[in-house]
Amino acid sequence: MLRIYNTLSKRVEEITTLEPGVVRMYTCGPTVYRYAHIGNLRTYLMADWIRRILEHGGYKVIHAKNITDVGHMRQEMLETGGDKVILAALAEGKTPEEIAQFYADTFHRDESKLNILPAHHFPWATDHVQEMIAVIERLFENGYAYQAGDNVYFDVSKFSDYGKLSGNVQAGLMEGVRSEVDPLKRDPRDFTLWKTAEPGREMKWDSPWGEGFPGWHIECSAMSTKYMGEQLDVHTGGVDNIFPHHEDEIAQSEAAFGKPFVRHWVHGQHLLADGVKMAKSAGNEFILDDLEQRGFDPMSFRYLCLTLRYRHRMNFTFSALKAAERALTSLRDRVWEWRNLPLLAKQPEEAEEWKARFTNAVNDDLDLPGGLGLTWATVRSGLPDQAKLSLLLDFDRILGLRLGDVPARYDLPGEIQSTVAERTGLRQQADYQRADELRSVISSHGYIVGDGMSETKVRPKTVMEKLGERWSTVSSSKEVESYLDRTPQLDFSFVVTANNYIDDVKRCAQSILRWSEDHEVELIVVDNGSIDGTSDWLEELQQRDSRVKVIHCDHVLGEGAAKNIGLKQSLGRTIVILDTSVEIEGDTLEPIERWLQDRSIGIVGPWGLKTDDLLHFHEEVQSGDADAMQAYCIAFRRDLLSTVGLMRETFRFYRNLDLDFSFQVRERNNRIVADGTLPMTRHEHRQWNALGEAERDQLSFKNFKRFYKKWGERSDLLVSSGEETHSH
Ligand code: AMP
Ligand code: ZN
Repeated sequence: MLRIYNTLSKRVEEITTLEPGVVRMYTCGPTVYRYAHIGNLRTYLMADWIRRILEHGGYKVIHAKNITDVGHMRQEMLETGGDKVILAALAEGKTPEEIAQFYADTFHRDESKLNILPAHHFPWATDHVQEMIAVIERLFENGYAYQAGDNVYFDVSKFSDYGKLSGNVQAGLMEGVRSEVDPLKRDPRDFTLWKTAEPGREMKWDSPWGEGFPGWHIECSAMSTKYMGEQLDVHTGGVDNIFPHHEDEIAQSEAAFGKPFVRHWVHGQHLLADGVKMAKSAGNEFILDDLEQRGFDPMSFRYLCLTLRYRHRMNFTFSALKAAERALTSLRDRVWEWRNLPLLAKQPEEAEEWKARFTNAVNDDLDLPGGLGLTWATVRSGLPDQAKLSLLLDFDRILGLRLGDVPARYDLPGEIQSTVAERTGLRQQADYQRADELRSVISSHGYIVGDGMSETKVRPKTVMEKLGERWSTVSSSKEVESYLDRTPQLDFSFVVTANNYIDDVKRCAQSILRWSEDHEVELIVVDNGSIDGTSDWLEELQQRDSRVKVIHCDHVLGEGAAKNIGLKQSLGRTIVILDTSVEIEGDTLEPIERWLQDRSIGIVGPWGLKTDDLLHFHEEVQSGDADAMQAYCIAFRRDLLSTVGLMRETFRFYRNLDLDFSFQVRERNNRIVADGTLPMTRHEHRQWNALGEAERDQLSFKNFKRFYKKWGERSDLLVSSGEETHSH
């Protein structure tokens, strides 16, 4: 069952219900003389997630959301000096009803664009004035209301529990109600239940207290009672509703019906823009249309809201929205790909565990960021893709990202289909160059082509892709096609993995490009989840230097996986893996090529290591045979990979991965040779220096254990064990 923070008890509590299995839930809805901004929508999304989690957990939820078309409206009109839209509409001869209808329609449309489940009841305030009058009459009967002048007020002094929700006591209250300086009130905390209409007012109703209209809060007490009874299980709203609106709702309902009004009060924190609460009056509001006009998919906003708990303020930025859209697109791409797979006869057992973990997360005070994290963990897990797909669709019953609506096959125009088919033919004939040209053609028509292991996928570009504002990303080395069975096309492939430290990346990349002019080279940079601008710089570099190829990872992959991406994509006869702390200072390629002409040599590099016991690797070997080559620079013939294999991806941290790979190479009887004269320098290794000592030790030790477990007994592979291992 969902455990969630209850503003009333100020604790995270399990939701309990009056009637077993049924949750009565009320959400303070929109005021319909203006657009709902995306801050309002964040609050409705919160309610939607609560409802989905409860329904997913087997509860029947009865949900009501009011449409405020009177009362509140007037209050805000007074505060803001009239709404431009309403004034314009009135100038066009529209009635208040027409205006309310227009904004209510827009609100429903926005909710549906965000996949917010429609409430079962959308009561309009103006349709329930009789019910409001009835509650006010009860308040009179019970002695909680009084008439003064033309108005009816709630007598707060009679309700001893006043303040139990907001904690507002006398002093604080004064501030909360400061805007209402009404001499007719007996107590400044008293609030209006009914107001007599001023001359010329159109929206007014008959009542025992004369023609008038209801106060701001009474509609929620009256309508929730009508549709769900005198007691509610859950009531939601934004934090600004806590006082006075919800405090006053409690006073009215409990004074009228003599029962506790709501069990769980849930309040969503505000959406901010430029650091302040989003509000029309602050001039920092965005509506859903604004996002769409900028080319965003409304669902990206839903995704964005999933990335932060409801109890935190969220500062809205377009760059965050872009990141959300990117991530959502990448989820949809998976779904798209996996929908083409045959169904699994039986779900693997772990699937249940994943489901349980997901449910536990979201039930834990609406930890949707945790749920989203688990969604991605599922995507990256070793489960069969079909199982991942069915888990994703199951999670999406709560997330509500409409992942199930991603079509299995997009309806591609005929000409695109035939170009894709032609390209597939070219790829089968290994004419990758022309295939790539056709990729560009397809791309210029607004479609994205991706080559999977067995088939090619094509989907329409997102708007950001059309604008060229984003690059595609990968989440694992599995997604990257291996070119290793193709014949080499170039002399050298440099493989560099970059994770921030832009200056190092620049220095390394530029030195590679500067000193490779006499050769056919490519520089493959695996941008491993950089967030400091490195990605943009690399993207630019790729655009202006055709030798450069950048693969962006959508998060920080393990070092083994990141390096494998570069290795798989390389097309050079010789591969040089370089660390970004290294700077090349002369022609390294001639000597490397010369060394590797000796086919007994597997690896050459400037910084070799030796060991006697496989426990301590010491003395940097600068010439001759070594037991291992340090990752700063490792050069080898590309075809070596077909016998020794790729790097082990269990090595997430870079340390000792080089030892492991070196031993793979040694195991296949290849020599590792050091040449300290290769013209390159090592600079500070920032990744290492940025780590605390304890962290270093821990990460290094883990990797060392991995290494030692596999190679600890293999002292036969050491140079010191004799010359016979590399005698041919
Ligand atoms: P209103 O239309 O002003 O009554 O607001 C509708 C709902 O949106 C209420 O639950 C408010 O508490 C909530 N709300 C108002 N401003 C924001 C904001 N900037 N961020 C999140 N929710 C808000
Ligand atoms: Zn309300």
